[in-house]
Amino acid sequence: MLDLRKFRLRSGESLRDEVEVEIAPIELGGQRYLIVPEKVPAELTITRASTGTVYELRFHVRLHGPCFRCLGDAVLDEDLALREYQAESPNGVEELTTPYVTQNRLDLSAWARDGLVLALPDKILCRADCAGLCPVCGVDLNREPHEHEGEKSDPRWAALADLRDRL
Ligand SMILES: [Zn+2]
Ligand SMILES: [Zn+2]
Repeated sequence: MLDLRKFRLRSGESLRDEVEVEIAPIELGGQRYLIVPEKVPAELTITRASTGTVYELRFHVRLHGPCFRCLGDAVLDEDLALREYQAESPNGVEELTTPYVTQNRLDLSAWARDGLVLALPDKILCRADCAGLCPVCGVDLNREPHEHEGEKSDPRWAALADLRDRL
């Protein structure tokens, strides 16, 4: 939580600050992804306008966790630029408020985490062309590419592989 009271900005003023944001591990598709390092250096910009305040957060983050297809180690890099707006008098209009500012405190961790979750791809892979695990014997097809007898001719295998891809 960042105490915003130390930033006394007048209308038209802007300030930039280096902050450290702690981002909790993310659960995705039943798997756990760690943010490395846990404390991410970020650049926070606060700009005061006559009607409200704009908050901007930029950071680079690296995620470690299992590959969606082969369960091997996958690393994902994301660059994020987030923006929130808090009106001076929102009058109950939700679009004019940010959920991350309450009582002069900015919840950087929740904001960064939500932004990261939204930016993540559907599937985190060790590499774009990861071959995954063999649907028949479970062996990693990246390490040991192989086919089973009759695999190609039996349409049930294709259906199974297709199903596995959609899981
Ligand atoms: Zn993989
Ligand atoms: Zn196999």
